[in-house]
Amino acid sequence: METASLTLSAVRAAVEAKKATATAVAESYYKTIEAENGTLNVFLTLSRERALAQAAKIDDLAAKGTPLPPLAGAAVAIKDVMVTRGLRTTAGSKILETYVPPYDCTAVARLEAAGAMVLGKTNCDEFAMGSSNENSAYGPVRNPHDTTRVPGGSSGGSAAAVAAGMAAAALGSDTGGSIRQPASLCGVVGLMPTYGRVSRYGLIAFASSLDHIGPFANTVEDAALVLRVIAGRDPMDSTSADVPVPDYVAELAKPARGLKIGVPKEYFGEGLDPEVRAAVEGGIQKLAKAGCEVVPVSMPHTAYAIPTYYVVATAEASANLARFDGVRYGFRAKDGDARTLSGMYRTTRDRGFGTEVKRRIMLGTYALSAGYYDAYYLKAQRVRTLLTRDFEEAFKRVDALVTPTSPTPAFKIGEKADDPLAMYLADIYTVTADLAGVPGISVPCGKSKAGLPIGLQILGRHFDESTVLRLAKAAE
Ligand code: GLN
Repeated sequence: METASLTLSAVRAAVEAKKATATAVAESYYKTIEAENGTLNVFLTLSRERALAQAAKIDDLAAKGTPLPPLAGAAVAIKDVMVTRGLRTTAGSKILETYVPPYDCTAVARLEAAGAMVLGKTNCDEFAMGSSNENSAYGPVRNPHDTTRVPGGSSGGSAAAVAAGMAAAALGSDTGGSIRQPASLCGVVGLMPTYGRVSRYGLIAFASSLDHIGPFANTVEDAALVLRVIAGRDPMDSTSADVPVPDYVAELAKPARGLKIGVPKEYFGEGLDPEVRAAVEGGIQKLAKAGCEVVPVSMPHTAYAIPTYYVVATAEASANLARFDGVRYGFRAKDGDARTLSGMYRTTRDRGFGTEVKRRIMLGTYALSAGYYDAYYLKAQRVRTLLTRDFEEAFKRVDALVTPTSPTPAFKIGEKADDPLAMYLADIYTVTADLAGVPGISVPCGKSKAGLPIGLQILGRHFDESTVLRLAKAAE
């Protein structure tokens, strides 16, 4: 039985009914990976033994007629910023080239406990810093829709894995847009849950107050199913929320009719590609036809989102990345200057980190330094509150907001590589939700004339992923 085009619940049903085996499902994904990875550069490390051992367990259960767990037969890929016990985890960085973690990230452990098979670890921008995957120490990922173009970033490998049929679903992380933007550029569904909805335990920290783990999938229903498994309080992450987790798949049965969707004018201004605008407007019309009320709204502080994000994110990154010092993890420089302790720190970090990571450490260290702290970091935190209030005000009037995910379709590899500011603007519509901690999804809403996917973004109230998913299903 051909299982690659089935939804996750259909694969599970097929394995349960013994029409397919989990082993054959895993093998078929490895076949696609073997055929495509040389071109697309999606996987950095494969975990064949681990996936096949899990498949054997599932096939055993099926043979005995035991009901299967919710993600039985689901072949998943994991962004290489989530640690995996015994399986190399690089964060896309040279400094962690040989790092083999001693424990599993909670989200990964929950996937496996629910029957999923982890195929391997996906390429990403170094420490999740980037919007194109070009900042990986292991080379760029190529967009499966056009291999001369980027897949988006930083979770480009996970997005491309699902788009190319190299995995049925994947996990990514979103700090400023890194799930939604690559989902948009690769034509798949990408969901960023509310801050605290999914445990960050085992996620290599970039900016702790902004980091979120979430799924990539072929369909909204698959994304809902994965979220249901990974969401919920985890004693290992004190910022994970003790909020009941609904049955997101069951919630999808509720129609979108009667929901009020806000369209913020600030998300449709200068810099928005006309084809993206047309596709997103088409998506909004589709929601209106499904019975949603469309309400124009204003989010007056949106213009400050990018500068605010780049102060907060770099400040937190400079603190989080201090731990990579040649002593505790991975790579250590040993020669030349590295013969003294301070020389070892300096040389290790100089050789281990790439240009963008160094730029952020310097920017963040500066923003946090005595004398500048109030002017930059404190000011940015205040503006962050104003941005959050924009959402609170909007959500008094509407149930969700609908916007473009990315201002343009996938751009060419190299096009923005020398212009960090142009690259930072790729996240202009996504960083606001990270700063406010609200959930968001990107769902495909059309293609450009050149055949490049375009995504529609839906943002919701804190912990209201259900409404976001319902609307995404109506727009799908
Ligand atoms: N592109 C943004 C950045 O470079 C967001 C990255 C992310 O969400 N991890 O920081």
